[in-house]
Amino acid sequence: MRATVMYGAGDVRIETVPDARVVEPTDAVLAVSRACICGSDLWPYKTMEPTHVGRRMGHEAIGVVEAVGADVRSIKVGDVVVMPFAYSDGTCVFCAEGLNTSCIHGGFFGMADVGAQAEAVRIPQADGTLFVLPVGKDHALMSSLLTLSDVMGTGHHAAIAAKVAPGKTVAIVGDGAVGLCGVIAARRLGAEQIIMLGRHADRIALAKQFGATDIVGERGDAAVERVRELTNGLGVHSVLECVGHGESMLTAIRIARPGGAVGRVGVPQEEAMPGSLPAFYNNISVSGGPAPVRAYIAELLPDILEGKIEPGRVFDRTVNLDGVPAGYRAMNQRETIKVMVKS
Ligand SMILES: [Zn+2]
Repeated sequence: MRATVMYGAGDVRIETVPDARVVEPTDAVLAVSRACICGSDLWPYKTMEPTHVGRRMGHEAIGVVEAVGADVRSIKVGDVVVMPFAYSDGTCVFCAEGLNTSCIHGGFFGMADVGAQAEAVRIPQADGTLFVLPVGKDHALMSSLLTLSDVMGTGHHAAIAAKVAPGKTVAIVGDGAVGLCGVIAARRLGAEQIIMLGRHADRIALAKQFGATDIVGERGDAAVERVRELTNGLGVHSVLECVGHGESMLTAIRIARPGGAVGRVGVPQEEAMPGSLPAFYNNISVSGGPAPVRAYIAELLPDILEGKIEPGRVFDRTVNLDGVPAGYRAMNQRETIKVMVKS
């Protein structure tokens, strides 16, 4: 089969690799019908040391189950399923608590031999990992359903971690696909004011359509000042940090009002967390991490099927597998918000 392999910064290749197959009895094999390129794929695309082994890429997909192992009970061949970016058994203590990304038998796609930017992918812990969709594989809402594998669930997680609730003021740091889904999540949870910090015209336009009430294009001190102006000098109750840079984290903490909360889902690029002093003196709670998107699918799916939310609009380019290297380039140069890979 063919799959995406990254060999170093800027070096993404489509190669023929051994076919995905059932290895463990709890595995399934998914024929990928749609995958995506993620903002987090751009970190290795910018920084990865050259390697001869290569890394299999892709952690978001929808597809059709084409094989299951002997111990798989709830998933069957032919099911149309969404694959969360982490696999999990669905039964351990952390899965029971809704924290599937900390599953004792879990792990992440886009590593080792499990990459979803491919014709097929092996799914460890198939019963706990896969979510069967009540639609055919070419359903009209497929692009929005695909976001359940990462960006919509991740935006929702940021909102939950930031304690978004009806009537609250919210700010979103980061206008990528996750930040845009964070706007959807904040509105869905009843936020009254939703301030998007971003400066790309196409993304801002989408943010407004998703429910952003104010746009702040400034950065650093000027951004902090502007958010305060928009909130009677107070700052916001909830901040969704969807970038992961030190500077964006510091901004997030500084625009939170005393007693507020920052929900972070941008993968931190530094060991130390900035903003310790303002976070302390303003009693700001900082929470978040890898989103347990598997736990959120059941809640978010009905809103997509009923057309209440349209997170699939974050996809503004579609490529086939051969177009994946060009898709990485386009996303890295910010020519596009998010790329869908359609086989
Ligand atoms: Zn588990």
